[in-house]
Amino acid sequence: MQQLITGIHHVTALTSDAQKNIGFYAGILGMRLVKKTVNFDAKEVYHFYYGDETGQPGGILTFFPYQGLVGGRHGKGMLNTSAFSLSIDSLDYWTDRLSKFDVNYKAPQERFGNEVVIYFEDFDGLGLELVFTDKDKRLGYIHGPIPPEHAIKGFFNVEIGQEGYERTAGLLTEQLDHTLIAEKGNRFRFAAADAPGNYVDIVCMPDSLRGLSGSGTVHHIAFATPTRETQDQARSRLIQRQLNPTPVLDRNYFTSIYFREPGGVLFEIATAGPGFQVDEPEDQLGQSLKLPAQFEKDRASIEKALPPITIDLSKYE
Ligand code: ZN
Repeated sequence: MQQLITGIHHVTALTSDAQKNIGFYAGILGMRLVKKTVNFDAKEVYHFYYGDETGQPGGILTFFPYQGLVGGRHGKGMLNTSAFSLSIDSLDYWTDRLSKFDVNYKAPQERFGNEVVIYFEDFDGLGLELVFTDKDKRLGYIHGPIPPEHAIKGFFNVEIGQEGYERTAGLLTEQLDHTLIAEKGNRFRFAAADAPGNYVDIVCMPDSLRGLSGSGTVHHIAFATPTRETQDQARSRLIQRQLNPTPVLDRNYFTSIYFREPGGVLFEIATAGPGFQVDEPEDQLGQSLKLPAQFEKDRASIEKALPPITIDLSKYE
């Protein structure tokens, strides 16, 4: 059977503060703000996309900033941690950098024998990790504020909390082209391709409370599919499984379908292209507010409703 899902496309989370969000992700973490637009389903809310030089799938973290949004709670039925991939030689650089910007982090831990992991959270409490590995050849945002050899390369893995892993695992392996590639203790690692940027860990946490949506929590995870045709085929599989996917929605930079997995996490399947250069050139990505054609007539009122933000990264060098 043809592989329809190739890995992770992006993760989208909720934040309570647009300006602080830019400072944290473009500043402290040194990711590139590759697109500044609005939530196509709520145009009074920004949608920020952070990634590498061009915002390639497998390394895109996006946010809906709802100013003052009440904090959520990590737990079961939620994607609790998004982990970034870094060079094995970058551990000291990053512990120094997090300390410099007063970001608390947990002591480094080893995972699956060959990954060194440190856990930390952003100002909203969003769960993040840095994974230091020698098996990621991606370059990341090499023209950003971080020295290129230490730049975030993209995601390493994501971590979903569940009561038990079986139902979500069944969906991943039967409909979404993943295989189980590692397990240890309560952690089960799946991937559509065995490479950093694609690992989906399900962690069984039966004694935890269910997660609650709010700032500092993930809204959904998107998996990548090559084309509109493979997206349609993936959608047919989901319908057969009675997962009730949405129609295909045009997100300008990709097309999307959404459905809720049996453990409660909102999943999306997004096409790899056309990508973020469809409405601005690579050297200007993220600099101006981009709107889809159907919103352009409302640009003045949209810009007036959005909180003003500045992108000054000089204090993060
Ligand atoms: Zn999405």
